Amino acid sequence: MNHDDPTLDPSRRSWVPSANQVGADFPVQNLPYGVFRRAPTDTPSLGVAIGDRILDLRVALEHVAMTRLPSAVREACGSSTLNPLLALGADAWHAAREAVSTILTEGVGSDPPPEGWLPSQAEVTSLLPMTVGDYTDFYASIHHATNVGRMFRPDNPLLPNYKYVPIGYHGRASSVVVSGTPVARPSGQRKGGAGGAGEETPTFGPCQLLDYECEVGLVIGPGNNLGETIPIGKAEEQIFGYCLLNDWSARDIQAWEYQPLGPFLSKSFATTLSPWVVTSHALAPFRAALPARPPGDPAPLPYLDESGLSGGIKLDLEVHLLTAAMRQSGLSPHRLSRASFLEMYWSPGQMVTHHASNGCNLRPGDLLGSGTVSGTTDDARGCLLELTSRGRHPITLPNAEVRRFLEDGDEVILTGHCHRDGFASIGFGECRGRISG
Ligand code: CA
Repeated sequence: MNHDDPTLDPSRRSWVPSANQVGADFPVQNLPYGVFRRAPTDTPSLGVAIGDRILDLRVALEHVAMTRLPSAVREACGSSTLNPLLALGADAWHAAREAVSTILTEGVGSDPPPEGWLPSQAEVTSLLPMTVGDYTDFYASIHHATNVGRMFRPDNPLLPNYKYVPIGYHGRASSVVVSGTPVARPSGQRKGGAGGAGEETPTFGPCQLLDYECEVGLVIGPGNNLGETIPIGKAEEQIFGYCLLNDWSARDIQAWEYQPLGPFLSKSFATTLSPWVVTSHALAPFRAALPARPPGDPAPLPYLDESGLSGGIKLDLEVHLLTAAMRQSGLSPHRLSRASFLEMYWSPGQMVTHHASNGCNLRPGDLLGSGTVSGTTDDARGCLLELTSRGRHPITLPNAEVRRFLEDGDEVILTGHCHRDGFASIGFGECRGRISG
């Protein structure tokens, strides 16, 4: 971590006034990447969020700061997806960031960038930032794993492997969608609790226990060759950045299908990503070691030992709910929970190293989900399954509506923010999804 990095200098201000407002998610110290198009027939462009605008990287290629970049980096910045830039690795990412920071910082480049380079975020269509080849979902919050495990095994909530293995499963890449995409309520097999507790045979029909999961997504860079591994000391170099991720979950379908091979159709109907990928570079000031493991817990096996590394990220996550009735009444979304990504049991680097430890190849644009981020307190539970104890303790909203699980028209909004004294605060934007029937 280099705190003398000029792109992180908190005194820097942008030519874009909205980026300089207190509380802005996208000040000039953030510079997250996304993909957008201005009109339906346009070729998508890479963009960097700045205040309420986007720097269109394809048109910004003519700026002198960009013409000095190596040709491979320039070509990647002119692409329609992040994958070519992801493949180039950390040196290329740093060079591109420095150039973008030069263009957008007041008094560093020569002149303010032309208005035409900076479309308003409100006027464009965001697309998925990268083509996701493979998606893996972890289960790295011990608080989430304990809360969920306790519902099924009150005396023994954590299975014996949890403190040794970063638990995960292979998800479905084809149904990863960008924020704002409607999420259709899935149908599937349910038994005991959906069509009526105590049923002997399952029925097929619409999910009745529909849930969200507040997670952080890791966007993989160059990756590793098949048969090779990623040592823990090199894992961070493989993570280009992070986004917000909602792992929509059909709890009734999940409860019936998950044994013995894990989740399948209860998860694969949709996974929503925020449009902006906040880079590892921008997150450097907010790195910290994960909390020490409690006395009696095993130390990670040597290949996962990251002692001395700042493996965690001080990132505060919030979940908000906006129901159809709230929307009609003009009410603001209601905050359901707040948790810290720093409270995980396994770090992003440990997830990457473990994933590759058998020689499985990670590729540019692969997506790893952290698992539901929950904390120790009741208001830090990152899904409704935990918040309502599988519906036993419903939530009453400010307008007197009651929720056990999600209803049609409900919109879930994830947000994330990083703060540290002496540095510019940054945000992740929003990850939104609305349930349609
Ligand atoms: Ca999950």
